[in-house]
Amino acid sequence: MSVELPGTVYLIGAGPGNPNLLTKKAERLIKKADVILYDRLVNPLILQYASPETKVINVGKKPYFKHIQQEEINLKIVEAAKHYQYVVRLKGGDPAIFGRITEEVHTLAKHQINYEIVPGITSASAAVASMNMGLTMRSVAPSVTFSTGHFKDSIDHDTDIRNLINGGTLAIYMGIKRLGHILKQIETYTDEDYPIAIVFNASCFNQQIITGTLSTIEHELTLHHLDGRPGICILGHLISYFDNTSICKHEILSHKYYVIKGDKPLALAKAEELYEDGYQCLIDFDHHYHVSQQHLYNELLQYKEIEYVYV
Ligand code: SAH
Repeated sequence: MSVELPGTVYLIGAGPGNPNLLTKKAERLIKKADVILYDRLVNPLILQYASPETKVINVGKKPYFKHIQQEEINLKIVEAAKHYQYVVRLKGGDPAIFGRITEEVHTLAKHQINYEIVPGITSASAAVASMNMGLTMRSVAPSVTFSTGHFKDSIDHDTDIRNLINGGTLAIYMGIKRLGHILKQIETYTDEDYPIAIVFNASCFNQQIITGTLSTIEHELTLHHLDGRPGICILGHLISYFDNTSICKHEILSHKYYVIKGDKPLALAKAEELYEDGYQCLIDFDHHYHVSQQHLYNELLQYKEIEYVYV
């Protein structure tokens, strides 16, 4: 078979973490990929959909650390496209929402490399879905804004809160670290003690929802150990309609990990089922792990509660 190079780069959204929220198209392309360059927030289980021959490269940027710069990632993608036909650039959530996609697309266009964007489920959508709500609500929240709490070079810009003040819903990505600053900023514009929900690890086995108001949320957060976990802040009147008692299945805080052994398609199906029930799992393909999986598997062995499932 002749291989046409440079290859095509697929900029794919991996969703908020739960493999059941991966799109069919994303799954198909991951299975076909020659190389996958993935971000920090991509659930490693999703990488297990790839073939053992697929090269898997971690290009995760740790927030607030100079880990790997965007320019470096751009070059790695271009390099990959020169050597492989199916290049998957896998990002958490939707790649078009705070996913630095424009920079990557510009670089690919400059190098005349074909690319395609494959949308994913963004964490704000997953967060409200797990609260049995929407992001907008008739007569209550007519609009929604996706804002960021983190800015280039960690400069202290103000978060865009205009929509909240105008009666809409505000979803703040990357806002946990600067939450105090953002709350103060809102308080300078209004006396209203807006309700707020922060959803950590939306859609995953370790999801946690913390609710409060502008004046109480910081205290609420100190009561939990959530440092370092991805969390999305949802503010607005609509949050007062959140019925905490309606959460059951998605709030199973299980610390049990499953390792599934056996035939790959069956193992993946089992993993999806376990995720649906609120558990964390990995697949043991007769020790043919991707590098990323080996690392994760070793980490996992340190947990007490591991159950092996044979399919
Ligand atoms: N493209 C991503 C956002 C990337 S910015 C998306 O569409 O979701 C990274 C921020 O997204 C995190 O700081 C956090 O605010 C949010 N985030 C990503 N995954 C999340 C998850 N599973 N639960 C809660 N917030 C998440």
